[in-house]
Amino acid sequence: MRRLWLAAALAALYCSSAVAQLRIDYSRLEIKTTDLGHGVYFLGWQGGDSLILVGNDGVLLVDTSVAQMGEKIKAAIARVSDKPIRLVINTHAHADHFGANELLAKGGAVIVGHERLRERMAKGQYLAAFKQTIPPSPPAALPAITYIETMTIHFDGETVQLFHAPRAHTDSDTLVYFKRANVIHASGTFGGDRSYPFFDMSSGGSLAGMIGAEEKMLSLSDDKTRIIADEGDPGSTEGLKASRDMLVTIRVRIQKLIDEGKSEDQIVAAKPTKDLDARWAQQASPLTGDFFTRLAYQSLKNVTPPTRP
Ligand SMILES: [Zn+2]
Repeated sequence: MRRLWLAAALAALYCSSAVAQLRIDYSRLEIKTTDLGHGVYFLGWQGGDSLILVGNDGVLLVDTSVAQMGEKIKAAIARVSDKPIRLVINTHAHADHFGANELLAKGGAVIVGHERLRERMAKGQYLAAFKQTIPPSPPAALPAITYIETMTIHFDGETVQLFHAPRAHTDSDTLVYFKRANVIHASGTFGGDRSYPFFDMSSGGSLAGMIGAEEKMLSLSDDKTRIIADEGDPGSTEGLKASRDMLVTIRVRIQKLIDEGKSEDQIVAAKPTKDLDARWAQQASPLTGDFFTRLAYQSLKNVTPPTRP
């Protein structure tokens, strides 16, 4: 979840005509398919991007996108393979990653996800940062198979390893590592080579967990690994290293200001990300240095967001 979802959330929050222009017209969105080798393809639509693994046994899909994009995801997969979609992995409990689950489950796919993801989907959620309510998912959309720490799936000659990243982008994150293809889906724990990442504290995310997730992915990577970020083209190991270093730098700087007794507003005014913004704050993105500073501050201070409107 990043730009599109943030834009939608902000549009829902501020119903002014200017912001309403940010409302998303999914009928206009196209899915860009990129061949990453060894049967793995990236399906990008500028939201919760998907990966597929295609083989003789069928198709394994990572993340199903929003409900409105489900038919387009199916059509994009059909252009690559005429085999059935057998397995779906959901990386985390944001609706742009599980929204079309029900459609795919009704088509025969078995859904896999972290235990917390199933709980969050079943209960419904409230995203305090954007005052957004996500309703409970119908039973057919819930993962049939859950895991707690790690899981390995052997699919058509590929080894697909699932690692839970505790309290990172959310508390339901799965990092998905395609060993032979050398590709990792980062769930939402990486913002790409040039963007601050987002973490959702009302869904159990934290700055420390984001750093831990990026460390874990670095331990799996070599210089040719492609890392699927929360949005946009696949990132690089260099970008992931730089992102981890940036997060650690921000944590140290903000913790120092907290230790000096500064308030949230004083810390934002001190611009602790000033020299980092040129690389990490994309133009027109709501993920500015100030926004990320507030997120980091609240995480370090253990500010508990409200769990209902
Ligand atoms: Zn997300």
